[in-house]
Amino acid sequence: MDKEVSENILMITQMVKDIGNKHIADQRKRWDDEQIFPLEIFKILGKFGLMGVLVPETYNGAGMGYHEYVTVIVELAKFDPGIALSLAAHNSLCTNHILTFGTEDQKQKWLPKLAVGEWLGAWALTEPNTGSDAGNMMTTAVKEGDEWVLNGTKTFITHGNSADIAVIITRTGSPGDKRGATAFVVERGNPGMKEGRKEDKLGMRSSETTEMVFEDCRVPAENILGEIGDGFVQALKILDGGRISIAALGLGIAEGALEASLAYSKERHQFGKPISQFQGISFKLADMATKVEAARQLINHASHLKNNGQRVTRESAMAKYYSSEISVEVSTDAVQIFGGYGYSKLFPVEKFYRDSKLCTIGEGTSEILKLVIAKDLLK
Ligand SMILES: Cc1cc2nc3c(=O)[nH]c(=O)nc-3n(C[C@H](O)[C@H](O)[C@H](O)COP(=O)(O)OP(=O)(O)OC[C@H]3O[C@@H](n4cnc5c(N)ncnc54)[C@H](O)[C@@H]3O)c2cc1C
Repeated sequence: MDKEVSENILMITQMVKDIGNKHIADQRKRWDDEQIFPLEIFKILGKFGLMGVLVPETYNGAGMGYHEYVTVIVELAKFDPGIALSLAAHNSLCTNHILTFGTEDQKQKWLPKLAVGEWLGAWALTEPNTGSDAGNMMTTAVKEGDEWVLNGTKTFITHGNSADIAVIITRTGSPGDKRGATAFVVERGNPGMKEGRKEDKLGMRSSETTEMVFEDCRVPAENILGEIGDGFVQALKILDGGRISIAALGLGIAEGALEASLAYSKERHQFGKPISQFQGISFKLADMATKVEAARQLINHASHLKNNGQRVTRESAMAKYYSSEISVEVSTDAVQIFGGYGYSKLFPVEKFYRDSKLCTIGEGTSEILKLVIAKDLLK
């Protein structure tokens, strides 16, 4: 890692800690309890350049790379994984799709607003009947004159109701045909894009997850990203980068759970000594720290390749698969170390425990990632 990146990482770590302590720490329990999506926090994050981490400065972005982006997600996740999840969906899915596949006019039109947090972006691939099997999506886009008409329902979309703009992957060809999907940008206010049901979730409760309903939603042809028929292939490429951010989310949760466990195990006394002095606890801490470090190395490797413009399908899948699984394991161990207090909402680890599970599901389940890794190994 070069000197400039290392300095950026130190600066970002401190900056996110300051933002977290000032704007998140006192609020996160209420957001979690009442499942509040705090839109205002994304305006604040935007002022600090965190809504356009990967966006070049010419479009008002921070112009940074994946090492810095991973740091943002890791540090935010320690305060509230739900906020980190929404930031990741905004940056690496919606914004990055426009950045990667948009024309110069499209980038000039949408990126500056997204990069400063004036607009919040969503990205919609999943449907009620097609999650892992997204190639069989049923939402259609049909050409009528100079417009395209979208019909269908997307589900589990991160801030699907609150986003100002969304990239929607639709079917424009035969179901299952890899070249049968197209990506459209739809802006809020389009009368055919309707709010859908908000999910009541186990974790990540400060991140809004909703359906998005399209009823004769008319979109101009100029809102197509890339070529007609390329939508699904584009989505897979976007997920290659997105998975690095979900790996970072898992790492942040695991690190947060480890840090809390280290502190608690030194303070909590049983049988006349700190519980950290029982080998059963210290071995758990050793396992947790080793898993955290291994996840960090996989993420660093994928980030390094991605920064150099290399294909990261295998590496990002490995980082996301491993980091997500250990995030669940480490936060489960953390609850155990806290004992009864780990089961109580008085301490942060029960929230890490609930939030961690999303990492093994969103942007490719662990099973699908094993398929991706195996396919790449065996090609
Ligand atoms: C909080 C949250 C936020 C999300 N945000 C977004 C978003 O912003 N945009 C978006 O488009 N989507 C989003 N998603 C959707 C997410 O990507 C999907 O939930 C995920 O891809 C899994 O799809 P599914 O839920 O339909 O599960 P299914 O695909 O039905 O899978 C069910 C089970 O079957 C397994 N399975 C499926 N196929 C295979 C196979 N071939 N081999 C072995 N096992 C298999 C899966 O691993 C899983 O265990 C979000 C989901 C959640 C929970």
